[in-house]
Amino acid sequence: MGERLAACVRPGDTVARFGGDEFMVLLEDCSATQATDIAGRILAALRTPLRINGHDAVIDASVGIALSGPGLRVPADLLRAADTALYRAKAAGRGMAIVFEAGMYADAVVRLDRETELRAAVAQGHLHLQFQPEVELGTGRVVALEALVRWDRPGHGAVAPEDFIPVAEETGLILPLGEWVLAEACRHARAWSVPRGADGAPAVSVNVSATQVRQPNFVAQVAGILQETGLAAHHLTLEVTERVFVEDGEATGAALQAVKALGVGLAIDDFGMGYSSLGYLRRLPVNTLKIDRSFVSGVGSETKDRAILAAITGLGHALGMTVTAEGVETAEQLAHARSVGCDYAQGYHLGRPLDPALLNLMADLSPIETGAR
Ligand code: C2E
Ligand code: CA
Ligand code: CA
Repeated sequence: MGERLAACVRPGDTVARFGGDEFMVLLEDCSATQATDIAGRILAALRTPLRINGHDAVIDASVGIALSGPGLRVPADLLRAADTALYRAKAAGRGMAIVFEAGMYADAVVRLDRETELRAAVAQGHLHLQFQPEVELGTGRVVALEALVRWDRPGHGAVAPEDFIPVAEETGLILPLGEWVLAEACRHARAWSVPRGADGAPAVSVNVSATQVRQPNFVAQVAGILQETGLAAHHLTLEVTERVFVEDGEATGAALQAVKALGVGLAIDDFGMGYSSLGYLRRLPVNTLKIDRSFVSGVGSETKDRAILAAITGLGHALGMTVTAEGVETAEQLAHARSVGCDYAQGYHLGRPLDPALLNLMADLSPIETGAR
């Protein structure tokens, strides 16, 4: 690696191994354009596999660039700026080079605070769950409740998952957080099922992220939680996004097969959002497609959205899956979901996410008006 790096720079520049998997390149008298060009050359040079003991090792690199200037005169400051840019480059995807800009610090500090606080929130139990009904269109019956995590951030009120799940993913905090969500959701579901009987009670749907599924002990964790809480496996559905299937086939596929073998249901969440590979649908034992709400919201006015909704529903059914329309906000959207043959629907029109205490007040979770005959 060092040799390849050294071959990319100009005579007089410095290449050093900085520690672990980090290298540093010091370019003297260098413009932003030159630095970016050299970074591009480095990324290209590293892309050729390295032959080690007869095996080809493919290496991905990211580059953070900082230019000395009025605010960045001291070596330590320059290094810190390059490191911040590197962090950005990694977040932007593989093989990227990004030049440091002053505004990046503010973001980095916010992120760090948030990580520290989130870590404490997971440890101290400042998270709670809300549950949103999933309704069977034919009967209006609440067949499942989706667990949605909330963070009660002291001084900030409730923080939406969009604002902290990505931080949890990046930092690995998603593992303890996800385990807590799964266990807590199963505890609640078990509590509903006791008075309602094993078959009358709604199931619970839990969102799991790719990082969780990739853990070697994921299957054991799910089995352990089912056993501890006493929840029947068929009362639990795990929701994973398409990305999980498309990005790492084999290992994830095996884990999901094993979870499925326990009797747990699998749903593909946000279906239709930009991952075009459908090959995984053949291989994996998926029960349900949840059509992303972006396709549902336009069905009143957009003929194309209607066509997409109908086509996805047909695809799901042809593959033996049930289909859920997400984000149903109006009676009109509900009527369209029904008319194209969706089996289930979820959305503000049918029920907002509720605290468990309120859920228990919905006495027998009586059927919701869906216009079914
Ligand atoms: P999602 O899985 O697609 O969850 C549905 C989201 O859509 C929820 O937002 C829900 O409140 C919202 N929603 C439901 N019906 C409607 C509607 O009619 N209109 C509109 N505009 N929105 C509706 P929420 O709770 O903010 O969750 C956002 C995302 O955060 C979830 O999207 C899910 O991807 C993620 N998330 C939530 N809880 C967890 C969790 O425990 N673990 C993981 N890994 N991700 C979670
Ligand atoms: Ca979901
Ligand atoms: Ca969704």
